[in-house]
Amino acid sequence: MPIYNFSAGPAVLPKEVLQQAAAEMLDWQGSGMSVMEMSHRGKEFMSILAAAQYDFRELLGVPDNYKLLFMQGGAIAENAIVPLNLLGRNGRAQPATSDYINTGSWSTKSLKEARRYGNVNVAASSEESHYAQIPARESWQLSKDPAYVHICSNETIDGVEYQFTPDIGVDTNGAPLVADMSSHILSRMVDVSKYGVIYGGAQKNIGPAGLTLVVVREDLLGHALPACPSAFNWKIVADNDSMYNTPPTYAIYIAGLVFQWLKRQGGVTAMEQRNIAKAALLYDYLDSTDFYRTKIASNCRSRMNVPFFLANEALNEAFLTGAKEQGLLQLKGHKSVGGMRASIYNAMPLEGVQALVAYLKEFEKQRG
Ligand SMILES: *Cc1c(COP(=O)(O)O)cnc(C)c1O
Repeated sequence: MPIYNFSAGPAVLPKEVLQQAAAEMLDWQGSGMSVMEMSHRGKEFMSILAAAQYDFRELLGVPDNYKLLFMQGGAIAENAIVPLNLLGRNGRAQPATSDYINTGSWSTKSLKEARRYGNVNVAASSEESHYAQIPARESWQLSKDPAYVHICSNETIDGVEYQFTPDIGVDTNGAPLVADMSSHILSRMVDVSKYGVIYGGAQKNIGPAGLTLVVVREDLLGHALPACPSAFNWKIVADNDSMYNTPPTYAIYIAGLVFQWLKRQGGVTAMEQRNIAKAALLYDYLDSTDFYRTKIASNCRSRMNVPFFLANEALNEAFLTGAKEQGLLQLKGHKSVGGMRASIYNAMPLEGVQALVAYLKEFEKQRG
């Protein structure tokens, strides 16, 4: 029986990637070493790093005036690293102000962290609707001259995703748009040039935990607050080509294999089409019955993370037990939301979503 893993993260990886990593575990390409055992400054690892950087840039079409940084600490550390690097921009009076759009658990965490370093203006929030929608761009109350504007473009826990790229330039005196893309990076094409900074932890859609990807426009480097730790200073990391401190070498290697796998799948545009089809299959079924419910407005449903509820929540345990018996793993919802959640990242094949929908139907037939 095939196993399908719907974990929100760390999450499913392509089987081909895991098989290649297993085959190369003891001896990477005749080097006599495991990637884990290599000096990060040796020519073997340097070639792995360079290929991963090249492939990521090509997959997402990263323009030449952006740096790609491989860091550590995950998106939660980056929530602090963003203000530490951007609040000092343009000789702003301190403490400077940054704008946040609150669309769920992860943006709430980001803005709370930013409050430790400066003023935070919550320019829009969907908290009152229990994060069932993205506040319309026209409703945002942006500051005149914020250091930056922050969004979480896919809320992993709440299941909302921006289906548009916000244009903020005119209102904000040219402040950069900063996006936490942890849980949908490389799942869809984005126009990188519309962003100042894109960041994300790797463990949702890219590879193992321990690696954080940061894409930052070059003019945003070099403005860090004096208190910013060196290892978290984007300019220092960029000047040292992500080798200021020892990078998470094995996680970078696996991410690189995932990038090559993505290219073999036809790249991000082909993957996006598959993700649209997978999400439609699941949402269409959930919409077709009263036995299950979704709470998210149809124009901002996440293609990656699908929270849903049984109308009769007394059946939750039986649902999860039955799912596990069918090889459908980790469907329990986040504790703050309850119910169920199916995360259907790039590495989840269409067959996995088909198996889930078949189980949803079968369970409803038995218990409905
Ligand atoms: C998972 C996640 C995080 C947290 O990542 P860590 O690696 O635990 O720091 C932050 N933001 C989003 C959108 C996430 O999905």
